[in-house]
Amino acid sequence: MSDTPQSVVVVGASQTAAVAARTLRRRGFEGRITLVGDEPHAPYQRPPLSKELLNGGLSGADTEVLSETWCADNAVELRLGTAARRVDTAAGAVELADGTLVPGDRFLLATGARARRLPGLEKDHERIIHLRGLDDALRLRALLRPGGRLVIVGAGFVGSEVASSALAAGVRPVVIEQAAEPLARVLGADLGRFCGRLQRDNGVELHTGETVSSVRATSDGVVVTTESGLRAEGDAVVVAVGALPNVDVARNSGISVSNGVLVDEYCRTSLPGVWAAGDVANHRHPLYGRWIRVEHFDNANKQGMAAAKNILGRPTVHDDPHWFWSDQFGLNLQHCGQARTWDRMVVRGSLDEADFIAFCLADGVLTAAFAAERGGDIHAARELIARRATPDPALLADEDVELAQLVDASAAVPAGGS
Ligand SMILES: Cc1cc2nc3c(=O)[nH]c(=O)nc-3n(C[C@H](O)[C@H](O)[C@H](O)COP(=O)(O)OP(=O)(O)OC[C@H]3O[C@@H](n4cnc5c(N)ncnc54)[C@H](O)[C@@H]3O)c2cc1C
Repeated sequence: MSDTPQSVVVVGASQTAAVAARTLRRRGFEGRITLVGDEPHAPYQRPPLSKELLNGGLSGADTEVLSETWCADNAVELRLGTAARRVDTAAGAVELADGTLVPGDRFLLATGARARRLPGLEKDHERIIHLRGLDDALRLRALLRPGGRLVIVGAGFVGSEVASSALAAGVRPVVIEQAAEPLARVLGADLGRFCGRLQRDNGVELHTGETVSSVRATSDGVVVTTESGLRAEGDAVVVAVGALPNVDVARNSGISVSNGVLVDEYCRTSLPGVWAAGDVANHRHPLYGRWIRVEHFDNANKQGMAAAKNILGRPTVHDDPHWFWSDQFGLNLQHCGQARTWDRMVVRGSLDEADFIAFCLADGVLTAAFAAERGGDIHAARELIARRATPDPALLADEDVELAQLVDASAAVPAGGS
């Protein structure tokens, strides 16, 4: 491998890939850039697929993130509708599914994730939808008709956003969720109840504690049943039960894989010359001191950028606390940090009025925050989390104390994790 990269091949042509390609050019890289993507579309954004694209506000073209024109002007070659099989660093190429070789001397895996299925329960059918790509969203949109019904399996963020968009399109959503409350596993019981109430108050028929036992498509609709005997009928069903990382290319290349492609803080995989970023990367996060894989737009952007800089030989650690947003039922929800372990929750504002920020603390250290309609507060919380701050819970809860003051008062700590 030469010291200076001459030709970068990115596997995957979506958010992470687009940001990486843009960063490479903006940082002065003049060599060859090729994006290999198995979807037929130029890179586009996925967040609108469950939101504005479904309730009519946006068209498919509006989701574009890197246009074919930009790619042509910046000599970024798009090989779309083309699946990659593996990276062969000895041969200096990515091998495509048809055996063709795409030459390169640096490689980025940005293969993302795919929708999880209900094992053994689903057959491929146009009315059974897994919302991951633009084509899925357009197919779903075509099935939404005012006065109709949509069954949604899973009340996570994607399922809830689809329910919200369905309502806005005049469709009655029936949501079936296995847990006692939506998102309680991640956010805890109180916030889970808040999310459940949000759905019900807005007219969603939400069934919790229900395990789906069959999904059947008929000539003009779908029938979903649960182990307890619940039967839900609709024009279509959206199965929104999470996502799985696309690790085949990494595995075929002999790269270490465990819940995604394992990468260090510089996005390096176990194979020299190959980096990974975005939804597929299980990243050794310096702030938390452990491997974490997330499916967040912001992470795709930041890791894509960091990976590109590292490919160019400019060591860049991606160590921001994670952040994502969700728009549903007229509310903007945001989350930052890692809520996996916490022993105390402090709420500022009111859950009943859907105007709050909830702080999660572990041994006094702020680890995560979740907010409704409080983007500014989330921004401050993110800074506190990055500093591993130990704010006084009474001050966190006190609306009269500016969070910016707590940020100013907290000393920055060196990265390293616990
Ligand atoms: C419906 C929906 C709504 C979302 N809403 C939000 C939101 O509100 N907020 C938020 O923070 N995040 C949201 N996200 C998550 C966000 O979109 C993802 O984090 C982001 O798209 C990840 O980008 P990526 O490029 O890493 O992976 P992906 O976007 O998954 O792209 C990977 C690409 O690689 C392709 N690929 C896979 N294998 C191969 C192969 N062998 N050869 C060639 N190509 C391959 C895939 O087909 C895909 O095109 C949402 C996601 C979805 C699906």
